[in-house]
Amino acid sequence: MSDSTLKGKRILGTARPPKATDELRTCAKRDCDTTLSRYNKREYCYAHAPTKFPRLRGRIVPES
Ligand SMILES: [Zn+2]
Repeated sequence: MSDSTLKGKRILGTARPPKATDELRTCAKRDCDTTLSRYNKREYCYAHAPTKFPRLRGRIVPES
């Protein structure tokens, strides 16, 4: 056996804390386990996201 073999410490557990972006978030709606994208800041999935704009009749409301 050679003494030049590098011996490293065996990593026990996680060496680095998990990033917040690594955690998987699911829809806040009960019984909905849709995984939200890490880039999606909403609490609900697209199917359960509350509608912001009620029905508008013949009106174009500029987005603010
Ligand atoms: Zn949902």
